[in-house]
Amino acid sequence: MTAADLVPAEPAPWATFAARRAEGRIPFQHCWSCERAVFYPRVLCPHCGSVELEWRDSAGVGVVYSATYLPARDGGGRHVLLVDLDEGFRVMGSATDDAGAYAIGSRVRGAVDVGNPEAEPRFVFAEEGPR
Ligand SMILES: [Zn+2]
Repeated sequence: MTAADLVPAEPAPWATFAARRAEGRIPFQHCWSCERAVFYPRVLCPHCGSVELEWRDSAGVGVVYSATYLPARDGGGRHVLLVDLDEGFRVMGSATDDAGAYAIGSRVRGAVDVGNPEAEPRFVFAEEGPR
């Protein structure tokens, strides 16, 4: 075995995830074997063990699974949401504004906030408007 044998054929899943997210996408993997969504990124499907994973991008639309408010020490705070996206996986994100006290079960539309180069891009959600 040489060092070249240890180099993965593809970039690590996290690198691909981070690159796609930095472009403003909501990436996830789709398993061709069991037809389920895989999130966070993995090298194997956690449902069936297949390596036949394909990158896809979520439309960002889903249902609020859980919501809470995190007050900040210096005042203010933010609404944190767990959202079940229509593609079949759950993500954590923030509401886009203080009006984000969304009821559990309400429909929301998400995007990626890439506005702060100092911070990790984060998922942000707003009430789903008309398409
Ligand atoms: Zn699978």
